[in-house]
Amino acid sequence: MTISEMMNKLIGVLSEKRYNHSIGVMEEACKLAAHYQADVRKAEIAGLLHDCAKHIGEQDAFLMLRRYGEEPDEIQKASFQLLHGLLGYYIAKEQYGVNDEEILRAIYWHTTGKAGMNLLEKIIFVADYIEPGRVFDGLDEIRKTAYSDLDLCVQLCADSTIRYVLSKGRLLHPLTIETRNDMIMKRLIGSMPKNKLAE
Ligand code: FE
Ligand code: FE
Repeated sequence: MTISEMMNKLIGVLSEKRYNHSIGVMEEACKLAAHYQADVRKAEIAGLLHDCAKHIGEQDAFLMLRRYGEEPDEIQKASFQLLHGLLGYYIAKEQYGVNDEEILRAIYWHTTGKAGMNLLEKIIFVADYIEPGRVFDGLDEIRKTAYSDLDLCVQLCADSTIRYVLSKGRLLHPLTIETRNDMIMKRLIGSMPKNKLAE
C-alpha cells in the first residue's frame, strides 16, 4: 500500500481530529528521523498509522487482541485506551500491509514506551507528544528538547504523562515509569567514571 492509499483508508475510519493528529505525528516523525538520521520512510508510515486502532471499541479490542494471542495486563484491562498501540501493530500489519517489524513495534509501544526503546520507537513516542496540533501546559519546554536531546525529551514526555495521570487520579502503567527511568539511568551511566561502572 502506498502512503496515499493508507491515508485514504485511515480517513475513512478515524475521526477528523484523530486523522489530523495522525498527519501531524507523521510530519513530526519525518522531521525527527531526518534530524537523527533514522529511516524517514519508516518514520512516515509508523507516524501515520500509530493510532490506526484508536477507533476500535473496548469489547472488539479485547476480542481481537485475544485472537492475536495478546493477553493484556490488569492495568491495560482497566484502562483500555492503553490497548490501541498493541492492537495497532496487528491492524497495521493486516489491514495496511505493513510487514516491517521495526515500524510495527514503534506502533506497538507508542502509548507507554518501554525500557530500551530503539531510535524509531523514541521518535514515534516523542512525535505523538509534540506534533503541531497538540496544546498543553509545558509542551514548549518538551518541544525545545526534541531536536537537541531525544532521550531527555522521551523522559519529559513520560514525566508529563505521569503528572497528568496523577492529576486525574487514574491508573499509571509501570511501563511509563520504566520509560522514564531508562532515560535517566542511561544518563547516569553515561556520566559515571569507568571504574565506578566496573563495581
Ligand atoms: Fe496513541
Ligand atoms: Fe497519537
